[in-house]
Amino acid sequence: MYCQKCGKPLPDGDCAYCPNCGHPIRKPQQNVPQENQQDYKISSTDEMLVLIAKIFGLLNIIGSIIGGCLIIVIAITIISSAPSKGTVPANANQLIGGVWMVFGIISILSIAWQIPMECHMWSNGYKKGGLSTGFKICVMLFFNLVSGILLLCMSPNSKRD
Ligand SMILES: [Zn+2]
Repeated sequence: MYCQKCGKPLPDGDCAYCPNCGHPIRKPQQNVPQENQQDYKISSTDEMLVLIAKIFGLLNIIGSIIGGCLIIVIAITIISSAPSKGTVPANANQLIGGVWMVFGIISILSIAWQIPMECHMWSNGYKKGGLSTGFKICVMLFFNLVSGILLLCMSPNSKRD
């Protein structure tokens, strides 16, 4: 390396000025390791979007459990309100109650994929490019519509998409 002003060779050590003419030495720009970029935090706007998406996700999980239980209670009520004899209305009650029961069970079972999705949001939501577009669409379709839309509103990331 040579001085930009006087052209004399510079010593190898860390010196801020040329020992010959005193000209400030501009060091070659240090390369930021690229792999660290993914760990950089997202912008505050995106952070807020992830936070609201996580809250809606949590409410969705709680709602699925409470809603599912309520639907099952209604199903049991419908089935048990059937006349004791095996008449046609009794069969209709059992059918309707059975359908409600299935919906209630599906609602409760849906937390089996809702909780992993929520955990993924918690662990990767604040990392730049931590949530892929595919995941965001899955959140919108299978988890919570509002959460999915909020995540898709995040500024597009240049990496990992
Ligand atoms: Zn110099």
